[in-house]
Amino acid sequence: MVGNQNWKIIFAVSIVVLALIYILDNFISETEELMYKRLESSVTSDMSSLARNIDILLEDKTIFRGNQSLFSYLSSSLSLRKDLERDLNLFITQKIKYLYLVYQDDTQRFRYLLDGSSEDKARFNQKFDVENTAYENIYKTKKEFAITQKGLENLSITYLYPIIKNNEVEAILVFDFSSAFEYELRKIIAPLKTMFMLIYVLIGVFLIVTAIQTLFYYQARKRSYIDELTGCYNRQYLRYFLDTHDIANYQILMIDFDYFKKINDNYGHDVGDDVLIFCTKIIKYFLAKEDKIFRYGGEEFIVLIHNSSKAEDTAQEIRTQIEKQYYVRESVHINMTVSIGVNPIPAHARNTSQAINIADSMLYKAKVQGRNRVVVYDSDMKINIEEIHSSSHNIHNVVEALNDDRVICYFHKIIDKSGVVHKYEALVRYIAKDGIVVYPNHFLSDITHTKVYTDLTKRVIDICVKTIETEKVAVSMNLNVNDLCNYVLLEYLIEKVQNMKYKDAALTVEILESEKIENMSELGVSIQKLHSCGVKVAIDDFGSGYANFNYLVELNVDYIKIDGYLVENAVKSEKSREIVKSIIDLAHQMQMKTIAEFVSSKEIQEMMESLGTDYLQGFYISKPSADIS
Ligand code: GH3
Ligand code: MG
Ligand code: MG
Repeated sequence: MVGNQNWKIIFAVSIVVLALIYILDNFISETEELMYKRLESSVTSDMSSLARNIDILLEDKTIFRGNQSLFSYLSSSLSLRKDLERDLNLFITQKIKYLYLVYQDDTQRFRYLLDGSSEDKARFNQKFDVENTAYENIYKTKKEFAITQKGLENLSITYLYPIIKNNEVEAILVFDFSSAFEYELRKIIAPLKTMFMLIYVLIGVFLIVTAIQTLFYYQARKRSYIDELTGCYNRQYLRYFLDTHDIANYQILMIDFDYFKKINDNYGHDVGDDVLIFCTKIIKYFLAKEDKIFRYGGEEFIVLIHNSSKAEDTAQEIRTQIEKQYYVRESVHINMTVSIGVNPIPAHARNTSQAINIADSMLYKAKVQGRNRVVVYDSDMKINIEEIHSSSHNIHNVVEALNDDRVICYFHKIIDKSGVVHKYEALVRYIAKDGIVVYPNHFLSDITHTKVYTDLTKRVIDICVKTIETEKVAVSMNLNVNDLCNYVLLEYLIEKVQNMKYKDAALTVEILESEKIENMSELGVSIQKLHSCGVKVAIDDFGSGYANFNYLVELNVDYIKIDGYLVENAVKSEKSREIVKSIIDLAHQMQMKTIAEFVSSKEIQEMMESLGTDYLQGFYISKPSADIS
């Protein structure tokens, strides 16, 4: 395939070669023409002097005819005719093939008077058919005239010379001159011309092939940059575009359809596709020629608004219009809404991915604030650009992993005292492009407060639900307090669980505590919702950090996971042992089960069992693995 720049070079070289060949070809044609002209004029001047001599000879030999016409004079004397024809015959050479004298009779017909030819001689007064008006004209002009014919193999000149008596044309002396010169000339030039013709054809074919190839190349490239469903540019082109354009000339919109999944769930994927097409058309309607729209992910779009318009206005127009319009198909009427994050000042960011991440953070805010809204970034916002910068690489990797379906879970066994598997804790990871498994400590903190985090959590929910359904095992997954207070995630989780066929207390949510719980009652409501659809709840890392006994009272949970640090220390420190014991006792009093994590040795396992813990988890029991075994 012809590369990006190569075709220009190929075209330039071809055009130069073509021009050179054209100039050379023209030069040869002109030279050929010139040689003809020269030959013609030299032949004509030779003939002319010859004709004059013959004229004088004729004059001399018919001197006694007085006023008698040449025709009647010659008709009366056969011997004179023969004599004159012998004279004419003397002038016949290889080049002058025919030499004869004709006249026009009273009926305007031309007839032979004399013929100097040796063979096929014409008779006296034999009719002579003229094919050229030049013969008649000579009677008027009284001037000699040359008729040139370029034959295939020779040059022939018919030279006409008027015999004038008493200022009247009486007869015409005709020379037929023919030369093989042209043939010789052609023999030299023809191969050259054939060669040029060949080069023309070759270059022509080559140019056509190159042009077709180039066309295909660009068409293929264009196709590879276009999203088939929506006709928008794809992520690949976004990358190319950002590499080749200055983002400072644009403002960024990050658009995501609200609750799009529900459209698919309720009406099927085909309608979902159609709605997507329908809505992108609306978006495109509000874009100027210089603006660009890219399909960033499933139903997420990035729009680059050129600085000649105000991104926020465009965003509002898009949002309002999508809210107003109804997608109608048969009895189906669907009304969509979108959330839009705007970064109107990408130039403030360190690089393009940071600029996009800012728009993404704004989109996240729009989602959290209740959707169907536009959130615009301004530099006073308490967003730590530095943090976004350092994390942008990670965010990008996670987005790609989500898109390429490279997000996975490892499963870590939790067993009961008899060694039977009670459930599996799902631990998120993603497989990097080079195949390396990336652990959450490398990326999780970077993606919090972006929509990517929500997307990743949803994916983990999907994986857990799928594992429960296919493996028929119980699974626990980690969520933090914010996740549980984020009703998008909560609704997503509940919906998934409700659609599950294999119920049987199959899912447990472990609440990770990293910050102080601000809104205990809100969390309580979420836990209640989880309980009502059969999801169990555990408090993770109990005994460390913020988690305190008050939570046990306030929150109605099913399990307590004793902090691994306490578990490990219980064999060494009396104090730790006492804390673990009291946690277990308290939990039991409150009808909660306990899980000891970080069980990394036989000694710890035995200790935990002696303290009365219900379940155990740790490297001594098993290591997390990608498969349920
Ligand atoms: P949110 O308001 O949080 O954005 O909720 P959501 O349901 O829109 O978001 P989520 O990211 O959970 O789901 C996006 C859905 O979009 C999931 C996927 O099935 C659907 N989707 C993505 N691409 C396509 C597509 O090309 N065609 C169809 N029909 N659906 C798509
Ligand atoms: Mg969405
Ligand atoms: Mg989405």
